[in-house]
Amino acid sequence: MNLSKLNKTLQKQFDGRVRASAENGCDVLRGELDSWADVIEAFQTAASKNSTTHVLNDIVCAAAQDAPMRLPADSDDSLSGDAPDVLVIGGGISGASIARELTRWKLDVLLVEKEADLALQASGRNDGEVHPGIDLGKGSLKHQYIRRANRMYGEVCRQLDVPFRRVGQYVVFKKRALFPLIALYAFWRKHHDGIEDTKLLSAKALLQREPNLAPDTAFALFNPSAGCVCPYGLTIAYAENAVQNGARVMLNTAVLGMTVEDGRITAVRTNRGTIHPKLVVNAAGVFAEEIAKMADDRFYSIHPRRGTNSILDKKVGAWLQSIASVKDLSIHGKTHSKGGGLLHTVHGNLLAGPDAVETYEKENVATRPESIRTVFDRQKGTMPALSERDIITYFTGVRAPTFEEDYVIEPGRRTKNLIHCAGIQSPGLTTAPAVAIDVAQMAVDLLKKERAVQENPSFDPVRKGVPVLRELSDEDRDAMIKQNPDYGEIVCRCEEISKGEILDALRAPICVPTLDGVKKRVRPGMGRCQGGFCSPLVTKIIADFLETEPSRVRKSSAASVITFGPAKDGKGGEAQ
Ligand SMILES: Cc1cc2nc3c(=O)[nH]c(=O)nc-3n(C[C@H](O)[C@H](O)[C@H](O)COP(=O)(O)OP(=O)(O)OC[C@H]3O[C@@H](n4cnc5c(N)ncnc54)[C@H](O)[C@@H]3O)c2cc1C
Repeated sequence: MNLSKLNKTLQKQFDGRVRASAENGCDVLRGELDSWADVIEAFQTAASKNSTTHVLNDIVCAAAQDAPMRLPADSDDSLSGDAPDVLVIGGGISGASIARELTRWKLDVLLVEKEADLALQASGRNDGEVHPGIDLGKGSLKHQYIRRANRMYGEVCRQLDVPFRRVGQYVVFKKRALFPLIALYAFWRKHHDGIEDTKLLSAKALLQREPNLAPDTAFALFNPSAGCVCPYGLTIAYAENAVQNGARVMLNTAVLGMTVEDGRITAVRTNRGTIHPKLVVNAAGVFAEEIAKMADDRFYSIHPRRGTNSILDKKVGAWLQSIASVKDLSIHGKTHSKGGGLLHTVHGNLLAGPDAVETYEKENVATRPESIRTVFDRQKGTMPALSERDIITYFTGVRAPTFEEDYVIEPGRRTKNLIHCAGIQSPGLTTAPAVAIDVAQMAVDLLKKERAVQENPSFDPVRKGVPVLRELSDEDRDAMIKQNPDYGEIVCRCEEISKGEILDALRAPICVPTLDGVKKRVRPGMGRCQGGFCSPLVTKIIADFLETEPSRVRKSSAASVITFGPAKDGKGGEAQ
């Protein structure tokens, strides 16, 4: 559709309150609307009918004013004058995997992450499903990457010592009348889109494999290549392997602004001083558009989309060994998300969710009861015995889609020393291993225009994680305890985590000495009691490791004080 037709449609839809204009190869929407839902509607119209490749959001919506980006509390000069070859902005799965792939070359790589740990945004707040790609249309970048990346998972997780299980995914249908249509769809996906392993299963065969799924199932699509992985575990492992191979990772470090001269970024301002990178990789998730703006290279807009998951007790985890969901074919079910489902996690819990809710708030991860209710109402259709009473915790994450609902993986359009890895919504965890290889190659190709870039002969793809004692045989565990008695001191009873494992996590290549940092790495506090019993013990271990008072240990960020007053015996407790 050309611009004048688009404007006619917008005129009808919004009484002239929104207009589109073509600028720098994009359709820019301007005007004033009353609600965020109206803004989304305007962009859905524009994205489906735009005359260029991207639509940009410059609509004013007084009712949808987001809070400023959360920033680290500290600032110093530790990066002042630093001049890395590549500056990677963002410590999610995209940034961490790109940093690791870049270390295959002799390059000075610096990754900055504004939060106190890696994977604190979307990469630590997702389902951990390694998608098979059945629901992605051919032609998108998402589709281009998904099969290639899915196949890489076994090898990548072996190298990085991260648990990954190819458990398979069942898409369940309850109406038998749909069988011919879905059979045709599966045939099409197999032969046209390369999803070769998809199979149709009868209800009987499905219920033999997964007897706790709904008995009123008619048939199912089975995608054996789907799997599950620990998403924050993989992000941390990628970043640690990058550090082992020479990259630097700076947490609590936010990019605040840039100087662009003659189409090049010459300076990047952070809370730790001004950096002068030769090349910048924008992997900033929901803030990728802001980074693009700083770099004078904004040509896409991100519209955040929330999703909530509940984690259920391991007792319920045993009810399903794979990934399953009932397909919602109604208009209401079309949410640009697979639609959620149930997933047996690599740690043995059951995960229910997520939903998909448009929002203007990029960092509001508060969980709303209605989201949990929506997910449960729907997933009880997948597994009738599901009960909200089995929830041990829940979380919300925010996806970062563009209005075109596809990735932006390309060099800057106006700014030469920049690469965008943006719009990385679901299945961004799945596609990361392949995307990272391509972005790293893109970076090397750009740098090679100005200087020689050699391969790093000492690159080692293997990273060893902390040993998981509960998974060892009795003999191996005994041997380890004999060597180091700390492995025999159980601190978290729910997850059976020893003091030795906690200390190993603190000695890892990227040390995050907070309760949440340790929890993400070795799981104390992840079990049924959610840290009720072990948190004080873990706090003490961290304090002893840091040679400080327990009152100085934080939950995650500098502001997340754990103890506010002295204990009954009058000791400790002052929040500093
Ligand atoms: C609820 C939900 C479920 C999902 N389920 C799946 C799934 O099952 N499978 C799948 O494949 N994908 C899934 N996804 C998608 C997947 O999580 C994302 O695609 C992926 O995590 C994106 O990673 P990222 O590194 O690009 O972004 P992020 O993880 O958001 O990382 C970006 C990082 O940049 C940092 N940053 C931003 N601005 C700055 C700045 N100015 N300075 C410094 N740092 C900055 C942020 O703090 C953040 O840590 C899901 C997403 C959600 C929300």
